[in-house]
Order: sequence, then structure tokens, then C-alpha cells
Amino acid sequence: MTTKEYIPIIGLEIHAELKTQSKMFCNCKNDPEERQANRNVCPICLAHPGTLPVINKKAVEATIKVGLALNCQINQYSKFDRKNYFYPDLPKGYQISQFDLPLCKNGYLDLPAKEKRRIRIRRVHLEEDTGRLVHPGSTNYSLVDFNRAGIPLLELVTEPDLRSGLEARKFAEELQLLLRYLGVSNADMEKGQMRIEANVSLGRVDDKGNLVLGTKVEIKNLNSFKSVERAINYEVERQLRLLEENKKVIQETRGWNGSKEATVFQRAKEEAHDYRYFPEPDLPPLTLESEFIENIKSSLPELPWQKRERFKKEYNLNPKEADVLIKNKDLGEYFEKIISEIDNWIKVEKIDFEKWPEILKIAKNYLFSDFLGLCRGQFTEEKCLITPENFAEFVLLVFQNKYPSKLAKAILGRMFETGKDPSRIIEEEKIRLIGDEKVIIKIVKEVIEENPQAVRDFKGGKVNALQFLIGQVMNKTQGRLTPDLARKFLEDLL
Ligand code: ADP
Ligand code: MG
Ligand code: ZN
Repeated sequence: MTTKEYIPIIGLEIHAELKTQSKMFCNCKNDPEERQANRNVCPICLAHPGTLPVINKKAVEATIKVGLALNCQINQYSKFDRKNYFYPDLPKGYQISQFDLPLCKNGYLDLPAKEKRRIRIRRVHLEEDTGRLVHPGSTNYSLVDFNRAGIPLLELVTEPDLRSGLEARKFAEELQLLLRYLGVSNADMEKGQMRIEANVSLGRVDDKGNLVLGTKVEIKNLNSFKSVERAINYEVERQLRLLEENKKVIQETRGWNGSKEATVFQRAKEEAHDYRYFPEPDLPPLTLESEFIENIKSSLPELPWQKRERFKKEYNLNPKEADVLIKNKDLGEYFEKIISEIDNWIKVEKIDFEKWPEILKIAKNYLFSDFLGLCRGQFTEEKCLITPENFAEFVLLVFQNKYPSKLAKAILGRMFETGKDPSRIIEEEKIRLIGDEKVIIKIVKEVIEENPQAVRDFKGGKVNALQFLIGQVMNKTQGRLTPDLARKFLEDLL
């Protein structure tokens, strides 16, 4: 048997902090950005004896939203359970989580790829976050900050359906988009608002054609998409090497060390916890009315993958362009506002609708290259001085006047700096095409005189030489001439 026959098998466990107003079981403020330690705490989230938790309805709604968007079944009868373990950041000595009756189960997410890859989702449940240990520099003690203790945490577990580090990364990126589109979590990995653990094994297809999974290793400390991809790929290679050497993969937990670019041993299976789960006696089971679930379902917004497909179709975007507009939701909305403004202009100006593809192309060109360049990739509509209306007007002006790109870029640049509408900029700054034939002829003559070699080449039959001369004319006029006109006058005068 060759190692080629091994198949990478990957399953993910992903946690996301929900951005509700209050914590999961008390009315302390849910503020992951709070800098002052132990400010958002109360007897409930500090687990004082005699206190009772109360379920946060908004957190339940948020979790069901995610479940429905991921095609899950919703358990109308659900409950919370105690997961027991001891750690200084866990005030109660147990975490309230969900064990056998999670809010959502059996869903799926399709990865964005040419051939559809459906990743099954085993469950999505609700639990609470822990506090955080702080290790002050050069001291031999630790402090604990409970601001985070009790923040609602969504946990999603996939089936082992992913087959590479890249697929796992794509899954995580899609999920992050979903959480943001639903407005339930900022899901910023750098801030620990979304945390990923990856389970990796090497499987094989047996004689009967069934996929047999291998011994899995769990990888923790993955705090960026890049590390998710790299750690999984590293782990696949490590396990392959072991199997090639006829050694066994040992079931263990490993951590990703980004500076070493390697997974490192953390603990063996024997050290695994026995969590002694049992139903949380201080909370009633959750019974969800069908109407409650239906209402959440009908409130779902357009999902990122739905929008991606619509954008591709409606605006003829390539996958990369569509992705830019999906990843920056604000930019996607801005783009659609521009389009609807252009639609208005087309009606008002009575432009032939057959010109629409041409106009759309101008809008896309300037948005994706020059405009994003001006924004330095940091677009927010709030901070952007160009209104969608002005952008649309700009597109129409470029279309109607056949502005060469250099001139158009100059106008767009001024719009970006000043927020003024394009016709005003053209008016005030005299950015306009040269209309006077005499001026054009003078410039073209100068170019011919200054470039005798190119002129000889052109007359000798070299087509490139003309292109060069056109470029020279365009430079001299600072783009205030269309290339067509430059060509026409050059041909006439040569
Ligand atoms: P555990 O009980 O150790 O947490 P689970 O069966 O609950 O294991 O699965 C946890 C995660 O590990 C899930 O995402 C699942 O898809 C994945 N997983 C389970 N078995 C394997 C395997 N053999 N190889 C890779 N991933 C696996
Ligand atoms: Mg697990
Ligand atoms: Zn509290």
C-alpha cells in the first residue's frame, strides 16, 4: 500500500462569541473590548452560592439564525447541561453547555468552488465563555479577569468531511462571513471572537469501498485563517511520514506553533477530561414554538453565498470580483447603490438600454481598480466622500464623453479628495478634453518631430511604432484627448 492511498480527513470545532447586549445567563454587559479587568461581573457570572442563571433569549435566537442559515434541523425541545472541569478561569467549576440536545443539528454548508463540496454540520449549540488568565510580566503569579466569563458562545461541529487545509480555511471563512452577515458575531479571529480547533487524521478506502477514518489528532491555538490552513497541511504531512515509516499515529492534542511552523505535542488521550455531563438543574428545558422558529427563518437576510451567486449573474462578475464585494459587505452595498443610481440616469437621459453592458463595464473597471486603490483597500461608506450618486454620474460622464482613462482617473481622484460631484470638478478645474483642432495638430506635430526613429519605424511598417506615438501624444495632453483622436490625427499627419 502506498501513502498516496491515504486521504486527509478533517473535522472542525468552531467557537464564536455572540455580540448580544448582555451575557448568557445574567444581565452583565457583554463587552469583549472592556479593558478594565473585572468590570462586567456580578454574583451570577462569578458563581456565588445561591445565584440562579436566566437564559438570554437573544443568544438563543442568534444561534437558531445560524442553524437555519446552515440548513440545520432545530430541536424544538432542547436543554442545557453542565460540563464539569476545574480551571482558574472557570468560576463555577463547570461550564453551562449543551450535550445531547443541541439547539441545531444535521446541517450543511457548500464550499464556494467549481465542483460543489457539501460539508455536513453535525451540530450548532450554545454555551458560555470562560474568564481569562493574565500573566503580568516578570511575576510568578497569575491574575484572572472575569469580564469574558459568561459571554454567550456558539459552538459549531462539522462532520469529518473536509479534505485539505485549504478547504478547512474556506469553510471557516464562509462561516465568518455568515456570522457577520447575520450580525450575530464580529467573528474576528485575531481578537479571539472566533476560535477554531481542527481534528485531523488519514483515512483509507477499504475493499468494500467504504471510507475508514484514521486515528485523529486535535490541533488547538489556531488564531488565524492562515494558521488553520498551514497547521492542517503540516499535520497531514507529519502523519503521512509516520505511516510511511510504519509507525502509529497517536491520538493526542497538539498546538500550532506559528514561529516554528509546526504542530507540537500538548497532551495525550489518557489525560483527556471526563466532563461528567448532566442536565443543568437550575435551568428549565427549552421548548421552542414553531412560530418562534418560523419568525426567525423569515427574518433571515440574503446570505453571503446567495449574494455571491446573484452578483455573479446580475453584474457579470468574475469569482474574484464577487468575492471582494461579498467580503466587504459595505462595499457590496455601495456597489448596488451605484448600479441603481446608474439605472435612474439611464432612464432620465433616455440612454439605449442596449448600452447597459458597456456602462456596467466602466463602473466595474473604475470601482475595482482605481477606486479601491484610492481607498487603499479600506472602504467604509461612512468615511467615503464619493456618494453613490456622484459615482454613477462619473460613470455616465466617462461613457458619454469617452474620457480617456488618465483624465477619468484624475476626475475620480479629485472626487475622492473633495467629495464634489464630477461635473463641478470638470467645470471648476477645467479638466476636460481638448476640443480645439489647432491645439491637437500642434501637439501631434511636436510628437512627430521629437520622435524621428518611431516615425521611420512606422513608415517602415512597424505597427507598434504607432502605438508608441499615440502614447506620446496622450502623455503630452495629460490624457485630455481620446486615443481614437490621437490615432486619427497621427495617421493624417504622417
Ligand atoms: P470527540 O468526542 O473526541 O470530541 P467527536 O467524534 O465528537 O470527537 O468529533 C469531534 C470533531 O472531530 C468533529 O468535527 C469530527 O468531525 C471530527 N472527527 C471525528 N473523527 C475524526 C477522524 N477520525 N478524523 C478526523 N476528524 C474526525
Ligand atoms: Mg471534541
Ligand atoms: Zn454577571
